[in-house]
Amino acid sequence: MAAKSYNAYHSAQKQFDDVADKINLDPATRALLRQPCREYHFTIPVKMDDGSTQIFNGYRIQHNDARGPAKGGIRFHPQETADTIRGLSMWMTWKCAVVDIPLGGGKGGIVCDPRTLSKSEQERLCRGYVRQLSRAIGPNQDVPAPDVMTNAQHMLWMLDEYETIHGARYPGTITGKPVSMGGSLGRTEATGYGVIYNLREALAAMKIDITKTTASLQGFGNVAEHAARLYTQLGGTIIAVSCWDNKDKKAYTYRKKDGLDIVALAGIKDSFGSIDKQKALEMGCELLDGGAWLAQEVDILLPCALENQLTPDTFPAVSPAVKVICEGANGPTTPDCDRLIQERGIYLIPDFLCNAGGVTCSYFEQVQCNMNYFWPKEEVLEKLDYKLTSAFHAVHNLAAEKGLYMRDAAYIIAINRVAEAVKLRGWV
Ligand code: GLU
Repeated sequence: MAAKSYNAYHSAQKQFDDVADKINLDPATRALLRQPCREYHFTIPVKMDDGSTQIFNGYRIQHNDARGPAKGGIRFHPQETADTIRGLSMWMTWKCAVVDIPLGGGKGGIVCDPRTLSKSEQERLCRGYVRQLSRAIGPNQDVPAPDVMTNAQHMLWMLDEYETIHGARYPGTITGKPVSMGGSLGRTEATGYGVIYNLREALAAMKIDITKTTASLQGFGNVAEHAARLYTQLGGTIIAVSCWDNKDKKAYTYRKKDGLDIVALAGIKDSFGSIDKQKALEMGCELLDGGAWLAQEVDILLPCALENQLTPDTFPAVSPAVKVICEGANGPTTPDCDRLIQERGIYLIPDFLCNAGGVTCSYFEQVQCNMNYFWPKEEVLEKLDYKLTSAFHAVHNLAAEKGLYMRDAAYIIAINRVAEAVKLRGWV
């Protein structure tokens, strides 16, 4: 039987509907919040290096901006769809609300594979994307950032195009910029570090010594790499990392039972998070199937790649040893798998809390750009740790007090904040 296919928007709506029922959300607020408030779908013609013209499809979707300008990344992915971006834009609203920053939720994407585009083609694509959106984004409307397969250089090309069109400097339009051009120190590490601040607090609450734990990781892009770096610095051991191999067009799991050298692995990956297979083998890694990361006998699973990885089809392979699932990716667990996680009594740190470090640091980047005064890295990371640790404990305490699943507790806090904002504004 073919594996069931999942739709991120439907998953986000199902999670929302279930919690809306639990908290008796009124029908108008529910109707407003279960869909995006604004969507832009457009084509981007790009002159390719060989003289031909290729037409790309782009999207920007603003789910809600009641608490502040819409905020969220732009993804480059060949399988991007409007529904994926709709779902991700909803999750951004909850993410900003759960860490209590004055921003709403949005997401963007271009259907493309940047690994097959030259640098100058990528630049023209970024500029074309902004030309189509120049009136819809801005520091007080909607603030993009990097996401899957986009980086600081892409953000700066986008900002430059925006500022050229508007004829002035607006550094708060985009976050995740290069540090020398208005970016914040610590932004590169922020999402991955935030994942581990959450994990550190969860393990402490469970009275588990982090130095005695092992973990298996999916992904080796920016989020996964920095999560792995901090987790191992705190004394944890990563025994497996799964990532995409761009030459073989499939994922592999790299395993070393006595612990992977994360710094060495980071030294042999490309900018999209693919590890050099040959060099990994020379380092003594075992090469396993891409899905094997999930079946390792470890204490912690860190899905830090894409959506829909933990499903009723894949979950039975998860080892009974697993005590914590730490969702670094957006939407790695499908709603029909949550019940299975709960039945096994695994402690879940839900995605929009777990990976909120990136957007929290983006918010700090905006604050610094507005002041035109930049903080040292230690200060950024200290503020980040404080914000995420507070958010974690608010969710953990609510879950403990009311006997709730962590995802539901995070949703209750986030939805209540956004519902209050739309009511105070008089929208419902
Ligand atoms: N793309 C990141 C996320 O999904 C960061 C978004 C941002 O910084 O605006 O949270």
